[in-house]
Amino acid sequence: MAAKKSDDVPTEIAEAQDSLERRIRAHIAKARVQVTLTDNRYTMISVRRVAKERRYEVRLHCMFVDADPVITRALAKYIADNDADASRILGDFIDENSDHVKGRARRAPQQLIFTAGEHYDLRQMFDELNARYFDNKIEAAITWGQRTGRPKRRNSIKMGSYSVEDKLIRIHRSLDRSFVPKFFVEWIVFHEMLHQVHDITVKNGRREFHSKEFLADEARFEHYVVARDWERRHIDALLTY
Ligand SMILES: [Zn+2]
Repeated sequence: MAAKKSDDVPTEIAEAQDSLERRIRAHIAKARVQVTLTDNRYTMISVRRVAKERRYEVRLHCMFVDADPVITRALAKYIADNDADASRILGDFIDENSDHVKGRARRAPQQLIFTAGEHYDLRQMFDELNARYFDNKIEAAITWGQRTGRPKRRNSIKMGSYSVEDKLIRIHRSLDRSFVPKFFVEWIVFHEMLHQVHDITVKNGRREFHSKEFLADEARFEHYVVARDWERRHIDALLTY
């Protein structure tokens, strides 16, 4: 019988986690993988990379418990390389199994969640901001957006977005680069979190995404002035992605 992982995880779940971990690990040579099974409604897959320990902390929806070798290999490639083909395979798998997701409308779009970037871990950032500014009341998933091909100069970039229906914050990959300071990424994440607090209002027949109250609230961010100033000075670099 397998030993319990910790006191509060029932043995059968601990065994299922161990087994899934082993099957994924078989495809990843150079890092350790730690799997936690969840029944989260919004996040089917979330990956956190602990770079200095060469370790991935992976939270997977329990629909993956009996995943076959094709799926476990795709998980490994997705976890280690954020591989696009793997991501498609997993997306299909999640769609096929979406009726296992508690409380979720069957045809609701599924989202692949990828929180661990090259430079910034969005989950960690979200958790810190949630504790510091929101009393841990924000309930949303967060992910980096899709990777794109060759860098080019764009006319505009949507640095962040918040989907009310999916409770999903998406942050543009352009921000996951070494020249972008942490406070700037935090500001964008903070801004998107505020969208859950402030409803969109209608003013003079137009939807108003950023009301006076929203903007006042946004200015509470500790590095607000510095972040705005940094954006103004680095807009060209941000738009080249
Ligand atoms: Zn906004």
